[in-house]
Amino acid sequence: MFCVAGKCRSRIINSLRLPLQFQRRMKTLVVFDFDYTIVDDNSDTWVIRSTPEQTLPDWLKKSYERGRWTEYMARVLTYIGDQSVQPGHMRAVMESIPFTDGMIELLTFISENKKDIDCIIISDSNSVFIDWVLHASGLKSAIDDVFTNPASIDARGYVNVRCFHAHDCQQCPVNLCKRRVLHDFREKQAQADVHYERICYIGDGGNDFCPVRELKEGDIAMPRKGFTLEKLLCKAISEDSEALHAKIMPWASGNEILRELTALIE
Ligand SMILES: [Mg+2]
Ligand SMILES: [Zn+2]
Repeated sequence: MFCVAGKCRSRIINSLRLPLQFQRRMKTLVVFDFDYTIVDDNSDTWVIRSTPEQTLPDWLKKSYERGRWTEYMARVLTYIGDQSVQPGHMRAVMESIPFTDGMIELLTFISENKKDIDCIIISDSNSVFIDWVLHASGLKSAIDDVFTNPASIDARGYVNVRCFHAHDCQQCPVNLCKRRVLHDFREKQAQADVHYERICYIGDGGNDFCPVRELKEGDIAMPRKGFTLEKLLCKAISEDSEALHAKIMPWASGNEILRELTALIE
């Protein structure tokens, strides 16, 4: 269904285009979503396991308004604090969230190849959960930066979460447009004279579609097989075969991405 472009083409073009003194090797940027991508569940619903009842009351569930997930999560985390759940217990529960098949191997490979690979997470989870999970995995060194809703633990032991940013994208939830985050990150890196040979974007969800549409030729969109992002990409391509510039490589295991990345940076 998806086209596969020649792997070496962009590197050859790149080396032809640049004057000799600038022919240093450019890095690959790997962008990860977190929930159902690095980990094989939703961290925002996994945390409910830390409550005594392991469920939320109906009045709280019903308070969710479409597109306002982060505000809802702030209420959920306040509720969890009100149940006298200690941060240490919540942390232990979050550390038990399973990693997606092959992701430990993939992150290990990235941590061992930092001279060729920069790696960021863009996620609608929150900074406390992601930090706990990465820290427990021992693979924090694979990740250069995390862009997510900022969270902190207050003096009462409650986790507080706020929206990541405000933006003007009509396609995305009010608290986070991942395309905007990726755009701003690339601009910041370019100002520091860091340019990427390609971007590999790894995700599963509806909010990964906006950034993937912005990828250029030579970049690779990596949607998780059978999840929303893959379906949205199939639909976009069936409606307009020119809709996307990036190569598309669906995956079921991080090991498939590992093989592709190994070949790319060889
Ligand atoms: Mg996701
Ligand atoms: Zn957007």
